[in-house]
Amino acid sequence: MKKNGLYSKEEKIFQDKNKLYRAHSVKQIAYSTDPRDFGQVAKSIPCQEACPARTNIPGYIRCINEKRYGRAYELNRGANIMPGVLGRICSRPCETACRHGAPDNGVSVGICHLKRACADLKSPMHRIIEGLYAPTGKSVAVVGSGPAGLAAAHDLAILGHRPVIFESMEKPGGMLMYGIPEFRLPRDLLMTEINNILRLGVELKTSQAVGTHITLETLTQEFDAVVVAAGCTKPRVLEVDGEDLENVYNGLEFMKAVNAGETPVVGNTVAVIGAGFTAVDCARSAIRLGAQQVAMHIRKTMDDMRIDETEKHEARFEGIGVESLVQPVKILGENGKVTGIQFVRTRIEKTGTPPFKKSVPIADSEFFIPCDSVIAALGQAPDVHDVSDAFTGLDKDSPATGVKGVFAAGDFVTGSTDVISAIAGGRRTALAVDLYLTDMERKKTVVRLESHATTDRPRSYDFIDRVPMNTIAMDQRLADHTKEVETGFDPDQALEESQRCYLCNLKYEIDPLRCIYCSACIDVAPKDCIKMVETIPVNADGTYGRYVQTGQWNQVVSITIDNEACIRCGQCYDVCPMDCISVTKTELIQMDMDE
Ligand SMILES: Cc1cc2nc3c(=O)[nH]c(=O)nc-3n(C[C@H](O)[C@H](O)[C@H](O)COP(=O)(O)OP(=O)(O)OC[C@H]3O[C@@H](n4cnc5c(N)ncnc54)[C@H](O)[C@@H]3O)c2cc1C
Ligand code: SF4
Ligand code: SF4
Ligand code: SF4
Repeated sequence: MKKNGLYSKEEKIFQDKNKLYRAHSVKQIAYSTDPRDFGQVAKSIPCQEACPARTNIPGYIRCINEKRYGRAYELNRGANIMPGVLGRICSRPCETACRHGAPDNGVSVGICHLKRACADLKSPMHRIIEGLYAPTGKSVAVVGSGPAGLAAAHDLAILGHRPVIFESMEKPGGMLMYGIPEFRLPRDLLMTEINNILRLGVELKTSQAVGTHITLETLTQEFDAVVVAAGCTKPRVLEVDGEDLENVYNGLEFMKAVNAGETPVVGNTVAVIGAGFTAVDCARSAIRLGAQQVAMHIRKTMDDMRIDETEKHEARFEGIGVESLVQPVKILGENGKVTGIQFVRTRIEKTGTPPFKKSVPIADSEFFIPCDSVIAALGQAPDVHDVSDAFTGLDKDSPATGVKGVFAAGDFVTGSTDVISAIAGGRRTALAVDLYLTDMERKKTVVRLESHATTDRPRSYDFIDRVPMNTIAMDQRLADHTKEVETGFDPDQALEESQRCYLCNLKYEIDPLRCIYCSACIDVAPKDCIKMVETIPVNADGTYGRYVQTGQWNQVVSITIDNEACIRCGQCYDVCPMDCISVTKTELIQMDMDE
């Protein structure tokens, strides 16, 4: 028996063997559609829940830990289609949600850098894996080859349909090709991942603008369905005097020119207006075009910028300044050229609707800054009339439109978002089109549950510092404007970063029928993760609600592990004298309904 809460060595060996024996001999796999399992996965795996494409993050990180890079890449590809691209430029909502970044837990896992690692480190012999459905004989026109259109076409091809993409530009990729600069996203890598999609049987027609070269109406007649994924192409303007001066650029047009190899004249001092992806890319590109002083001017604060910390860091490193809480009033010029901007200072005011704050100009706070050029990067809006004057009925929450057989996806529906949201939107729309064409639900999301033999990671991994990304030096960045700044992880760095992940897909549970309420697990727990519970309410949607805890032994109905607080250290599992703590791997998977 245990002495002072510890087993003898022999007992421990017996216990471990027994656990392994049990786990191996009765390894159980189940597929569930029970709302309680969906609820558990959503709450327990915050990174996956935050990812619009529901990428199996702990699953692929575990594969990287086992040096199975190809499998990690495929797990990613199965959800987000373009892991090499996203591993470089994803907006990373998963990292904001990561449990490792919660108060007292440290810093979030470098999920995105690990995604890139599996794309970079997989074998050159790697083969993509796809389960293709038999041809249905149905064809679908997809308008736009940005991430949303590509994702929709990818899934439609897998489902056996014949997608044909109509793209107005010369090359495919949308903002990936024409917006994001090459120093963040190499074009050969982008084309490899686009070609992986085209190879599935997707036809691509470039320089074909719908509305100009062919009408939406013709597409509806010639195809069984149409998906409009035309993105956001209508730039927002400043609406201030002086916007028509020479050297006042629109952010998207500026990036398109830079990405086409042109060198817009920016002068020495550049004022960028805007706080999003486009603004930062314009500022970093202006530095590469020879500007000596580049500053971003934003109405709110740096904390409100919708870009990742790494990018803010790189922009700072490249010498880009930020002027927060300012708003342009007028662009001034002489002889048709910009001489500076008149700004007004702003303050933040709380509001009742998201994002719950707005900037308000402060009276009599005007000031002037001199500059040689202005880049207005205020974002873009969808241009419905670009596609067709007859277009009706866009609903943010539905892939269908007001026209029968016409669906929509990506930024065109939601307004400017990010690549991962556009991909998730494209995939959702493909399923809606498939249902429309076949009247069958052919793919279903289920929870896969698998009994797990071990806890997998020692506690010491919790104290590993986040591995920084390798980058090239400033002189190399300036010498070659297209040279990729981030150079990725080597295998050792990828291994180290992968060790930091708690593997939140492992669910810890106490068997209430075997538990003897000794509280040994509570004594060793590093967090408030094991609870004496009076009741666990069930919500209206069938998921579990928050535990009602109690400190009174006579009210305790069970000792329960709170998987939202658990950091998967395994200490409770090791110490339990009754061996009543089990570990189950839980994964969201898309199941083909023919299986
Ligand atoms: C400069 C810049 C940097 C960005 N950086 C990031 C980043 O780092 N991370 C991130 O997650 N997101 C970033 N974004 C946002 C991201 O690129 C978009 O949210 C995403 O590309 C939207 O995908 P989409 O497929 O909906 O639209 P788009 O990518 O805009 O693609 C739409 C496609 O439709 C085509 N099209 C439009 N009208 C027609 C027509 N009538 N006929 C035929 N074709 C048509 C367009 O040419 C385009 O190829 C950035 C955006 C910009 C502009
Ligand atoms: S620790 Fe790992 S599994 Fe948990 S939220 Fe972070 S990345 Fe996801
Ligand atoms: S494994 Fe057990 S002791 Fe460790 S954090 Fe989770 S519940 Fe707490
Ligand atoms: S789960 Fe195990 S360690 Fe925890 S109270 Fe029950 S018997 Fe004791």
